Amino acid sequence: MSPEREEMLCKPNLSLFPDATVVNNRYFWGFECQDGWFDILNIALSLVSARCDISDCEQVTVTEVKEKFGGLRIYYRGGDDFVHGVFNFAETISVNVCAICGSRVGNRRMHYHHPRCDLHYGD
Ligand SMILES: [Zn+2]
Repeated sequence: MSPEREEMLCKPNLSLFPDATVVNNRYFWGFECQDGWFDILNIALSLVSARCDISDCEQVTVTEVKEKFGGLRIYYRGGDDFVHGVFNFAETISVNVCAICGSRVGNRRMHYHHPRCDLHYGD
């Protein structure tokens, strides 16, 4: 994840990332995926952050975010059924989104290891 996007995911959701640090004046946590999944992560983290703020669910701590078997994986502690649903949806939808640019990827790419659009196929 680029430093700019990394900070955009961290800064508004610091309660989810207690291990976040400041590197070169930007918040850094260590997302192990590329920028194509930024929108998915941004929406999912916003929803989960709000859930923790307005409900009495156990505080969520995100422990690892990475690409595995061609899909987004979000590992975390805490939360409730709502949080589980949001992260499960994010992981599921990611397999049809190019991990590099965020373009929609057709089903024909599903059997390859990484979701890539035609432009980034082979990268
Ligand atoms: Zn792409």
